[in-house]
Amino acid sequence: MNNNPNMAIECSIGNCAHHCSGQNYCSLSKIVVGTHEANPQKPECVDCKSFMLRQ
Ligand code: SF4
Repeated sequence: MNNNPNMAIECSIGNCAHHCSGQNYCSLSKIVVGTHEANPQKPECVDCKSFMLRQ
């Protein structure tokens, strides 16, 4: 379990291996943000590419 939140990266994805459980923050020092769209137009178009499924 991660308990070293990066207060600059708020995140609610509790099933990511990098998420700080019980605190809505990422534990990484930096993340990569990308898109699955050719021409992103709204928040739903962008993704955290640092996501890793919690095992
Ligand atoms: S890696 Fe991305 S999805 Fe995972 S906790 Fe950090 S910000 Fe959230």
